[in-house]
Amino acid sequence: EDNRDCENIESERSSGNEDHSQEDLLTVNRKSRYKRRKKLLSMRTSLASEWIIPIEELKIKDVIGIGHFGRVHRGYWHGDVAIKFVNVSRLTEEAIESFKLEVATFRKTRHDNLVLFMGACMKPPQLAIITSLCRGPSLASLIYEQKDRFTFSKIVSFAREICQGMSYLHSRDIIHKDLKSGNIFYEKCRIVITDFGVSSLVDYNPTPQERNLDCWVIVRDYAVYFAPEIIKKMDLNLVSFGLSAFTKASDVFAFGTVLYEMMVGHWPFSELPVESILWMVGSGKQPPQDEIRLPVELKNILNTCWEYDPEKRIAFTNLLKALNKLPERYLRRSPSCPSNSLT
Ligand code: ADP
Ligand code: MG
Repeated sequence: EDNRDCENIESERSSGNEDHSQEDLLTVNRKSRYKRRKKLLSMRTSLASEWIIPIEELKIKDVIGIGHFGRVHRGYWHGDVAIKFVNVSRLTEEAIESFKLEVATFRKTRHDNLVLFMGACMKPPQLAIITSLCRGPSLASLIYEQKDRFTFSKIVSFAREICQGMSYLHSRDIIHKDLKSGNIFYEKCRIVITDFGVSSLVDYNPTPQERNLDCWVIVRDYAVYFAPEIIKKMDLNLVSFGLSAFTKASDVFAFGTVLYEMMVGHWPFSELPVESILWMVGSGKQPPQDEIRLPVELKNILNTCWEYDPEKRIAFTNLLKALNKLPERYLRRSPSCPSNSLT
C-alpha cells in the first residue's frame, strides 16, 4: 500500500504543469489530498523506523545466558538493555517480513508487568530484540536456585501481577506461547514478564545434548508448560511442532504450572522423565496435590487453570477476579512493598 501511495504521489508531482489560469476546485482538492497522503506516508515511515535500532548504535556486552531460541547479551543503548539474538535458520525475505510483523505487535505493549520492548535490529543475519534489562531474579531462579519457599500472600501477589500482564496481552490478542517461571522476573517489588510472542519468531534450537539423541527430546523446563491439546498435536519424533497450537487457553494452562511451582517449590511430575510427563498431561492426569498445605481456594484456582478441556479453562481476567476474592484474612501486606501483599 505504501508503494502505491508513493507512486500516486510521484504521478501527482509530475503532473504539476497545469495551466494556473485553469486552477479550479478540482486542483485545490488534489493538492490537499496530496498533502494528506504525504503526511500519512511520513507518519508510517517514522512509525516503522521508530523501533529499528541500527546495530552500530548498540554496545554488546557479556552473554547473560543461552536459551532455546537464541542467546541473550547484556548491552548498552541509552542505558542498560538486554539484547536477544534470535535463531532464524533460513533468512528468507518472508522470514524477515514475518519477524517485522510480529515485532510490530510488541511495540504496542505498555504495561507495568511486561518487559519494556525498546526495539529490534533488522539487519540480516543479525536479528535481535532489545528490551529493558531485568535486574531482579527470575521466579525460576528464586524457586530452583535460591530455594525460596513462598508464603501464601506472596504467591497470591505474584499470581495477581502475572495475571494483570497476561490479561493485558490477551486483550491485545498477543499469545505468549512461552510463559514459564524462567520468563517471569521479580524486580523492585514488581513482576515483569518477558519473551511474549518471541517463540513464534524463531526456530527451536535443540541443545547439543538433545541433538545427540536419536529422537528429539524436549527439555523439562519447556515441556511442563504444554497444555494437553498441544501435546496431542505434537509428533514426538519430529524436530518441530506447530506453534499454531498455542492459544490464550494454553497460556492459562502454562500459568497453572507456574502457580503450582510457586505453591510446591518444584515442577509438576518432577520425579518422572519428560516423555512420561507428556504422556501424563496429554491423557489428562495431574500431579497429586496432597502435599500442598495451602488454602483450598488457591487449589481450586489452580484446577481452573489446568482444566483438560481448553474451552472450560478460565480466562486471565476472571482469574484476577478469583484471586482478588481470596479471603483478606489470608493476606498480609508488606511494609517494604505496600503495593504487594507480601509477608
Ligand atoms: P530462557 O527463557 O529459556 O531461560 P532466554 O534466551 O530467554 O532463555 O534467556 C537466556 C538467559 O538470559 C536467562 O538466564 C534469562 O534469565 C536471561 N534473560 C533473558 N531476558 C532477560 C532480560 N530482559 N533481562 C535480564 N535477563 C534476561
Ligand atoms: Mg526467556
